Amino acid sequence: MDATRGFGGLAEKIAGRFGEEITALRRDIHREPELGFETERTAQKVLSALEGLPLRVESGVAENGVVATLEGNGGGPVVVLRADMDALPIREETGFPFASEFDGKMHACGHDAHTAMLFGAARALCEDGLRRHLEGDVRFVFQPAEEGGGGGRVMVEEGVLEGVSAAFALHLWPGLPLGCASTRPGPIMAAADAFELFVEGKGAHGAMPHLGTDAVLIASQIVTLLQSLVAREVDPTEPAVVTVGQLEAGTAFNIIPETARVSGTVRTLDEELRRVMPQRIEELARGVARGMRGDARLDYEFSYPVTRNDPEAARLALDVAGKVLGEGRAVEAARPSMGAEDFAFMLEAVPGAYIWLGVGDVSGLHTPTFSFDESVMPVGSALLAALALEASSQRGLPGSG
Ligand SMILES: [Zn+2]
Ligand SMILES: [Zn+2]
Repeated sequence: MDATRGFGGLAEKIAGRFGEEITALRRDIHREPELGFETERTAQKVLSALEGLPLRVESGVAENGVVATLEGNGGGPVVVLRADMDALPIREETGFPFASEFDGKMHACGHDAHTAMLFGAARALCEDGLRRHLEGDVRFVFQPAEEGGGGGRVMVEEGVLEGVSAAFALHLWPGLPLGCASTRPGPIMAAADAFELFVEGKGAHGAMPHLGTDAVLIASQIVTLLQSLVAREVDPTEPAVVTVGQLEAGTAFNIIPETARVSGTVRTLDEELRRVMPQRIEELARGVARGMRGDARLDYEFSYPVTRNDPEAARLALDVAGKVLGEGRAVEAARPSMGAEDFAFMLEAVPGAYIWLGVGDVSGLHTPTFSFDESVMPVGSALLAALALEASSQRGLPGSG
């Protein structure tokens, strides 16, 4: 690497020097997937991998997270690179020799790769050749509980971002060509909130509906009408999703049940719209239920906020990605995803960017056959390392004072 920050060849260098270690760590983590905050073994593996590197390492952050700091040469802004470490409650069907040994758990969202790529970035940045270009400190954040639980929020609460000027994270992205990166200024992932509606009716014999209040019929009307919220009340140019994922009622084919439960998720990109959704869901459900001689009650949980990229940081990320991955391999994303991501909590606290790293046409995230070409991992490590080098020398980054 030279002073003009040409990062061409960095991925190949990392692949050649540390590729085997990165792959070994990924497979080791893949074999023993852990859920939520319970990433104890995974954290141990990360700690072992980092051993001997010139890092200040803290474990037990957000229960089972690891934060490792590499000191820069002074003066530059502090940069966070973050990876998530947790797996999903899915039974793996890849048939790989390193497939999950924990029944019903699987790294189906690529967090094993994120962790291994972040290790690769740390490994590379600790080498003198790169480290001498590093101005500010780099904090490598290995975070538990992305898939629900909000480990990112806990990390922020525990002060992981204190004094930090910028934060970056990668996510493997099916559908984007292998080895390409994509991000955008502004919203990149949606806010994901959860609702639960409890419908109250009156039980009766299935043959005597007039003596009861049918909770199933009320719930059915509610499910259908909820779809009118997005279709009729949201500006058609503003993305929003209301999905009912669960509908529960009844005990037998010939009994009209007294209660029903309808639960789902609401995805939005606009904060004002996000705040108004619970009120409208409740009014609609209640109105329908009362009109049918029943009632409905709403429980609503605001969960992950919008993942919003800082415009400057997103531009920096695209620029750096272009240099690392090569001409035309860094593309600005035309639209956000309506998926959600708890890196959002970090981006609420400091400017930064969330970046998709393409793995081509593979099984989707969260499927039992999700897999990817492991050659993408050194590419991700190179991208993270280059982001740290660039951002830690950027006086122009917001908050870098
Ligand atoms: Zn996921
Ligand atoms: Zn994920």
